[in-house]
Amino acid sequence: MSNDVGTLYVVATPIGNLEDMTYRAVRVLSEVELIAAEDTRVSRKLLHHYGISTRLTACHEHNERNKTRNLLRFLQQGKSIALISDAGTPLVSDPGYKLVHAAIENGIRVIPVPGACAAIAALSAAGLPTDSFSFEGFAPAKQGARTKFYEERKHETRTLIFYEVPHRIVVSIDDMTAIFGPTREAAIARELTKKFETIRYGTLGGLCEDVVWQDPKHLRGEFVVVVEGSRANRVPDTLDREAQRIVRILLRQLATKQAAALAAEITGVRKQQLYRFALSAKDT
Ligand code: SAM
Repeated sequence: MSNDVGTLYVVATPIGNLEDMTYRAVRVLSEVELIAAEDTRVSRKLLHHYGISTRLTACHEHNERNKTRNLLRFLQQGKSIALISDAGTPLVSDPGYKLVHAAIENGIRVIPVPGACAAIAALSAAGLPTDSFSFEGFAPAKQGARTKFYEERKHETRTLIFYEVPHRIVVSIDDMTAIFGPTREAAIARELTKKFETIRYGTLGGLCEDVVWQDPKHLRGEFVVVVEGSRANRVPDTLDREAQRIVRILLRQLATKQAAALAAEITGVRKQQLYRFALSAKDT
């Protein structure tokens, strides 16, 4: 794979089930001159499983800045590198952003080799709208910052995806229930693709009360929480653009209730529907 300038491959690896490695990932990892891995001990086991003997170097959040310089030099010498993380897609709540950004800035070709990603796997089985979603990563560990984090996302209408660690899953579901309200639909995906994979569906309130949490074995492993977006702010499907435009104009001069009432007279749309839209329009 030697050329004038090397290529940086961003290679996804399994999130548990080794069968989720792609043929292409195995080939690319075998062919590149160097693999930059988040934790070389973790990756060595993976590579051993597929009989890949390519040289490994560590590239993690603590050395990424300095490491990026060395890796860029390597690429500029015409050698190719594959970037991998411990599991799933690099850069998704994992290191690699600095390297990929620097590579692009320096005219180096970056090629993704797609595969497993816990967020997308959870979303695909959550049964919540997928036309528009927002990946939120990990909520902060400290209570105050976490509450603020959820508060800031309270009015988001897109489906929300969170990563969570086992020792905070219960407190996070509690916080979300208190802040987003108990009636939002959600899915908690645990240990995806692994032996103890479970996906629990329900409202936040129901999931919060779930007796399953009393059993410590359900608090082990890795979690993704997928939550329905805010319904309050959602523009009703049936509310056409013209009605929305009229409400927005009226809101410049009138109180919400009056704007909705007048818009109902003008458009013939139900007052209640327009009132809900007016509330959300005011919020945004
Ligand atoms: N880059 C990874 C990806 O593509 O999904 C994510 C890395 S992030 C450091 C690790 C978090 O991802 C875990 O704490 C958990 O929230 C989620 N995760 C990873 N593997 C998972 C799995 N098999 N089941 C459920 N969640 C998982």
